[in-house]
Amino acid sequence: MSQADAKNLLARPVIFLGPPGAGKGTQAKLVAKHYGVPHLSTGDMLRENVAVGTPLGALAKPIMERGDLVSDDLILRMVEERIARADCAPGFVFDGFPRTLAQAEALDGILKAQKSGPAAVIYFKVPEEILMRRLTGRRTCNVGGEIYNIYDRPPKVEGRCDVDGGELIQRPDDRPEAIRERLRAYHAQTKPLVDYYRAQGTLGEIDADASVPAVTGAVFAALQRLEKRL
Ligand code: ADP
Ligand code: AMP
Repeated sequence: MSQADAKNLLARPVIFLGPPGAGKGTQAKLVAKHYGVPHLSTGDMLRENVAVGTPLGALAKPIMERGDLVSDDLILRMVEERIARADCAPGFVFDGFPRTLAQAEALDGILKAQKSGPAAVIYFKVPEEILMRRLTGRRTCNVGGEIYNIYDRPPKVEGRCDVDGGELIQRPDDRPEAIRERLRAYHAQTKPLVDYYRAQGTLGEIDADASVPAVTGAVFAALQRLEKRL
């Protein structure tokens, strides 16, 4: 992809939307790195708060372990503070936000106030039966956050990150009971955002049941199509 294309695409923020396990984090890391912009995962931000023991982390921990959604109020405060930082000025890739209609409406208001234009939304479509395998097999590096899968994307050395040698850990919410609750929350609260953004004309849909490089290519192609339309 040329520099000119990259510049065009970052005319607006990008949102990766889809069920847990669809591959949003894996692709957001690659795409954000490609454009030199921050990857903003609200899940990662909350896990950092849990790890260092902030008051937000203490509130969020039991909710996340059950697989429920953290309140809109807390999420919006955290996101507003993050996107106000200087490194977000050239653009950013959201992964896991917004997750409710209230969050989407609040984000529209924030972007309007910033005069940054509507976000380009990429919807990751994956058959439900694939998600359980992706989530139960997920392992994450406790140093750099690199994402693996013991079935489909294993590290070279079991339990160790290929990039920095960090320990690969399983998220507490990747247990089957919590996964079921997260999928339920997705269908009840997040899936309606597909219609919300489709109605706004800002949605690009991709087949995320493909290899990692094939999905990356589909994301770039969808972003280019959207940029012509918006
Ligand atoms: P999300 O952020 O949408 O919850 P992740 O990016 O964490 O999803 O991916 C979930 C799991 O699926 C991880 O174990 C990851 O290694 C694996 N994965 C991601 N993309 C693919 C893909 N295209 N094919 C196979 N496995 C994938
Ligand atoms: P993720 O890393 O995106 O799978 O998110 C992990 C967990 O963090 C979710 O199951 C929720 O409990 C919480 N979470 C992350 N993002 C949000 C959000 N935008 N709104 C509410 N809860 C969130």
